[in-house]
Amino acid sequence: MAKHYDLIAIGGGSGGLSVAERAARYGARCALIESGRLGGTCVNVGCVPKKVMWYAAHLAHALDDAPGYGFRLDYFGFDWKKLKAARDRFVQAISDGYQGYLTEAGVELIRGFARFIDAHTLDIAGERITAEHIVIATGGRPQIPALPGAQFGISSDGFFELNACPPRVAIAGSGYIAVELAGMLHTLGSEVTLLVRGDGVLRPFDATIREQLLERLREDGINVLTRTQIRAVAQLVGGSLDLHCEGRAGALNVDTLLWAIGRTPNTDQLNLAAASVRMNPDGTIPTDPYQATNIPNIYALGDITERFHLTPVAVAAGRRLADRLFGQQPERRLPYENIPSVVFSHPPVGTIGLTEAQAREQYGDAVRIYQTRFRPMYHSFTARPTDTLMKLVCVGPEEKIVGCHLIGEGVDEMLQGFAVAIRMGATKRDFDDTVAIHPTSAEELVTMR
Ligand code: FAD
Ligand code: NDP
Repeated sequence: MAKHYDLIAIGGGSGGLSVAERAARYGARCALIESGRLGGTCVNVGCVPKKVMWYAAHLAHALDDAPGYGFRLDYFGFDWKKLKAARDRFVQAISDGYQGYLTEAGVELIRGFARFIDAHTLDIAGERITAEHIVIATGGRPQIPALPGAQFGISSDGFFELNACPPRVAIAGSGYIAVELAGMLHTLGSEVTLLVRGDGVLRPFDATIREQLLERLREDGINVLTRTQIRAVAQLVGGSLDLHCEGRAGALNVDTLLWAIGRTPNTDQLNLAAASVRMNPDGTIPTDPYQATNIPNIYALGDITERFHLTPVAVAAGRRLADRLFGQQPERRLPYENIPSVVFSHPPVGTIGLTEAQAREQYGDAVRIYQTRFRPMYHSFTARPTDTLMKLVCVGPEEKIVGCHLIGEGVDEMLQGFAVAIRMGATKRDFDDTVAIHPTSAEELVTMR
């Protein structure tokens, strides 16, 4: 007879680990199925190794800045291989640690690839298991376009396999990954061309932040080509790549091409039809506000769904689903508003809530914008004069803050606390009434006129 569980999570990434662990702590009998490395995208080929590389780039900037503060440095270069080896060990240790985390929580780990047999039954390499509740948390994978020669390019997964800093890189895309990897590669020594199909980077972000970031990328020396799309890739003898782009005479020759044009949800091989689970045309799974699919005992969360592809979102959705199913909190769910997010560009971008354009569409003339642009004290002594820009989007006579958009040194660490206040309904007056911390950049957020 097939083994039966209260809950099975398909996928051992941020979402699957969180829902199974929380459910098991309530006493539910849980299994988690993982076909690859525990920890999923975030731990193995996402946030974690990315942030290590961002720190390295941050240090490279600090070394450039140090002479402005009186330091005389002898510089012996950067050892990419050494950092990669340390980074890989760090990532492996986190991934390995999840085995103990699951055991300690009482979750059974099943290694293999899951496919649906029906709404309560899964097949893993010929073995069948059943459950009352099944959670799909299978994430996504990098998208490679269907173009001649596209296979000569790498994706963000391939970036983490690089053993050296490629001398000349082209990155196709203008979202989170394109912008972050462009900044890191450029700072660590690559000549970077960013191929953007639209007019600028980070299309869904606030226009002021987008303009400032584009200006910054260009001033830093990244070659940003807007309205440019690759149509074909050819590999030359010796390995370099010729990129043939629309609207551009002649080929662009690079050593490495990196596709960062979005991710494909891992739904195609789940055999969802056997359980009658509905899918969107792009492969994501629609859910109600409680993470339920159209089939009442099957749920979806994280990158497999339509909204906010971020680790803390997958974690929060998973934990709250377990609270609801097993923790006697029937209304518990993740509201998908006021989700803060940081783009680890150079400098970083932080954002929460409505952009100015979204707020004006929703609230018309009731919107009031507060904005400041300033040179942080740190950069008064460096050869990289980088401004910080802050924008608050307020609504109504009470000036409730519905959006906060930041770009500049340190905003990545600044946003979290302000996100708490904004989620709690803070007004501009609440910000004004908060005593500033001096001298910081963050104080500008509570002293804006
Ligand atoms: P995943 O973490 O992708 O986990 C899904 C798991 O399911 C995988 O381990 C996969 O092997 C497994 N699986 C798939 N199909 C099956 C099957 N049929 N059977 C068994 N197992 C299966 N987010 C942030 O918040 N901050 C960041 O700084 C950040 N940086 C990122 C950088 C990069 C380069 C990338 C690619 C992503 C980044 N993200 C970041 C996004 C974040 O990684 C994802 O939002 C998060 O990992 C989603 O978690 P998940 O559980 O939905 O999916
Ligand atoms: P994004 O959705 O952020 O961006 C995809 C980009 O690809 C867009 O700029 C889009 O352009 C462009 N694009 C799509 N198709 C094509 C095409 N055929 N040719 C050229 N460009 C194309 O996806 P990413 O892959 O960058 O990242 C995936 C998700 O992972 C992010 O949305 C984010 O949720 C998460 N992530 C989070 C990070 C963080 O929190 N710091 C870091 C990295 C990833 P256009 O705008 O014109 O549509």
